[in-house]
Amino acid sequence: MEKDYQKVWDKCLAIIKDNLNEALYKTWFLPIEPVGLVNGELILQVPTGFYYEYLESHYIDLLKRTIREILGPQARLSYRILNDTSDPQKPITTQIPSTGSGTSIHNKPREMPFVKQNEGRGPINPFILPGIKKVVVNSQLRESYTLENFVEGECNRLARAAGLAVAEHPGTTAYNPLLLYGGVGLGKTHLANAIGLKTKEYHPDKTVLYVSSEQFMQQYAEAGKNNSTNDFLHFYEMIDVLIVDDIQFWSNRGAKTQEAFFHIFNHLHQRNKQIIITSDKAPSELNGLEPRLISRLKWGLPADLQVPDVETRIAILHEKMRKDGIEMPDDVIELIAYSINTNVRELEGAFISLIAQSSLNHKQITLDLAKKMIEKFVKNSSRDITIDYIQKVVCDYFNLPVDSIQSRTRKREIVQARQLTMYFAKKLTKSSLAAIGMQCGNKDHATVLHACKTVSNLAETDKTFRYYVEDIEKKFSE
Ligand code: ADP
Ligand code: MG
Repeated sequence: MEKDYQKVWDKCLAIIKDNLNEALYKTWFLPIEPVGLVNGELILQVPTGFYYEYLESHYIDLLKRTIREILGPQARLSYRILNDTSDPQKPITTQIPSTGSGTSIHNKPREMPFVKQNEGRGPINPFILPGIKKVVVNSQLRESYTLENFVEGECNRLARAAGLAVAEHPGTTAYNPLLLYGGVGLGKTHLANAIGLKTKEYHPDKTVLYVSSEQFMQQYAEAGKNNSTNDFLHFYEMIDVLIVDDIQFWSNRGAKTQEAFFHIFNHLHQRNKQIIITSDKAPSELNGLEPRLISRLKWGLPADLQVPDVETRIAILHEKMRKDGIEMPDDVIELIAYSINTNVRELEGAFISLIAQSSLNHKQITLDLAKKMIEKFVKNSSRDITIDYIQKVVCDYFNLPVDSIQSRTRKREIVQARQLTMYFAKKLTKSSLAAIGMQCGNKDHATVLHACKTVSNLAETDKTFRYYVEDIEKKFSE
């Protein structure tokens, strides 16, 4: 029985992996070893005290939800620190409160309790009709993404100032909608969150809601299934400051979702409610969205985020050190800032990997260690593979039109192409099963899981099929 902890942890890892990008997963979760399971308390051994602190401050929610999902709502978690000289045998216990509705990680967006009625008592409904007093909306804002720790630089001065103006006077500046655009990892999500938090600070009475485009789309689909589309619309129409992240996600998909959003947009805008949108493209390049929606987005003033210059990159690293309470020599900071010039996410990734490595191997952070790590980091962080790209490669390989993956057909070759797309999306991207399904013809996460199994099984038993899989896989590393 006691050996069950390995199995339990393996199951947890499968979920965690599905919710995290690979580099972070490898850095923070692979070094963990399960060492016991006693009366519903899972004991994890972590390499150092730093790991423990980092997990507690950055991944505790993910760990809690995962362990609860596997072990049930009563589950508890404790840590043992491998190299803790003070008292190695004494585990540190983290309380996982046994209240809550046993949130499932797989379907996180769908089950997010948006609205709590009557101050949290009574049933938690995802949507609510307007006009009911004392509605509390969970803003879904991340507390750590504040405006104070969003470092200012030439690259973001305008966007930051626009954000501040919006937070001071939501709905009544020229920035309505406020469209924040910029490449991956340049701070769109952080800044959008920060504006939301600032708005709440200045206007505690206003209802602020952050939602990703993907989540919005899933909720809309779900509402359709449950005949509650009207509730869905009404819910969004009572928001004062609506933040929708990564709107490019709707490109070439979700025509109905876009229509629903179009109506919500008009409703809010007419009433001087604030709308904040982020996108990885400028409004004029947002092809694939409904033209009338694009025209709405152009109503406000757009603000772009650029790649930070090296001074700003250094300032961002200093801010990270301050926030995490970590010291690093100046020459190392400069080396990282000069070497990683792609975006802030990668900059942070390099910084964190360096800390993890030094902690894991008990080595001081020196220029030498940093150089070695950066070499690896720059090599490994090759371009991100997207699901769209995988669809294209798979369809090209079988000479199928790219949109056939989205079609409802059950033709064998198309079903197979769709399954292969799902399989590679699972293997090569950070997307969740639900997101993969959504992008491959609106399937659910169970279908994706099934597809992955089917492909693995076929590859084992059928030589030709295995050849296809290997041949396609090569295309992704070219
Ligand atoms: P995007 O949404 O544009 O892909 P994010 O907002 O997720 O990018 O930013 C990636 C990471 O970089 C986040 O951890 C964020 O906190 C950090 N970051 C980005 N810009 C800044 C900045 N100006 N100051 C501090 N941290 C930043
Ligand atoms: Mg983002």
